[in-house]
Amino acid sequence: MDVTRKNRQVIAQIGCAERGVEIIEYMFYNIKMDAIETLKTLSSQMELEPAEEARPVCFMPKERDQAFIHPAQLPNGKSILLLKTLLTSACERDCYYCPFRAGRNFRRATFKPEEFANLFMKLNRAGAAQGIFLSSGIAGGGVRTQDKLLDTALILRRKLGFNGYIHLKLMPGAEKAQVETAMQLADRVSINLEAPNTERLAKLAPHKIFIEELLRPLKWVEEIRRSQPAHQFWKGKYPSTVTQFVAGGADESDLELLTTTNWLMKNVRLTRAYFSAFFPIRDTPLENKAAVDPLREHRLYQASFLLRDYDFDLEELPFTAEHNLPLPVDPKLAWAQNHLREHPLEVNRAERRELLRVPGIGLRGVESILRARRQIKLKDVSSLKRMGIVVERAAPFILLDGKQPSLQLNLF
Ligand code: SF4
Repeated sequence: MDVTRKNRQVIAQIGCAERGVEIIEYMFYNIKMDAIETLKTLSSQMELEPAEEARPVCFMPKERDQAFIHPAQLPNGKSILLLKTLLTSACERDCYYCPFRAGRNFRRATFKPEEFANLFMKLNRAGAAQGIFLSSGIAGGGVRTQDKLLDTALILRRKLGFNGYIHLKLMPGAEKAQVETAMQLADRVSINLEAPNTERLAKLAPHKIFIEELLRPLKWVEEIRRSQPAHQFWKGKYPSTVTQFVAGGADESDLELLTTTNWLMKNVRLTRAYFSAFFPIRDTPLENKAAVDPLREHRLYQASFLLRDYDFDLEELPFTAEHNLPLPVDPKLAWAQNHLREHPLEVNRAERRELLRVPGIGLRGVESILRARRQIKLKDVSSLKRMGIVVERAAPFILLDGKQPSLQLNLF
């Protein structure tokens, strides 16, 4: 077999076509195929676990479900190739929706911490992966499993000198001291709440305890942040925290999901919540439950960003009588149609908080408007366009120097 053909096979095996043959050549001679096979097994189904702004596009098309290196955008805006995987796919819990649940018949695999750390460093040195999202099934209890994740991170940081991005999962039942160690090693820590409250979690994961096992570690993260100076943490910064919900898995409403999200953002400084639209997995207790429309996931993200960045209160979101967000319209537009259409905002006088509510005006757009109007009076849409404002969306809700913008006139 010629080398190029072998390399193509390796690219398909590792699930990353974009980096090209020349990068992979290094690995071809240094990584055993059984390690790649283990990584593929452990990383299958990781698309169910959203992290960072990862898009699973780094794969040969027919290998989509085996992709494990994903282009991802970090909170600081930097783009990296992120390896998303588990340390073990063995799990003693039996969450109803999960492909890794105990007793489900599929091939499982496990890495030892040192083995995984060495494999990752080979991928890293070859330029194929610059960061890690590392999770695990629970084997031998939450404390023991957390220890393995911490051991892996310790080897990477202290023994192998890895300085790049690590997102480390906190295990249900982990101890406070373990949470603290995770915070000292990782750029981001997370624990999946899965459902918005105790009652809903019982429908998804009957053996997880919402308050003690899942919510408490998030509270500990905030307590540790408040009690220790930032320089004690990785690169002198507090790690960010995120969580994930299985949207629609427990028949919960959007209001329930966003109430918990809002509480977490205000009380434990959650950076963001991920919403993963429920999708039935074969051979699980929920296999016959209908999949949730992915648009619901999108609307939940939009609403959570309104709460986090746009100064909206939960009560202002346009919930239906069933306490869900309307699917056909984005929540900011729905709010503006109800509140601004009859009373458009004068862009030259509106306060920051008001400008943030106009569809088509984002965070940067608001800052640009506030800066510009210190110097000039804004009179036409072309100046707004230059600031990156989506004038077509904003026009029905604003006035420029007392007049509703006429898009048509400005086309000529
Ligand atoms: S504990 Fe995690 S890996 Fe195990 S069954 Fe539940 S969701 Fe799946």
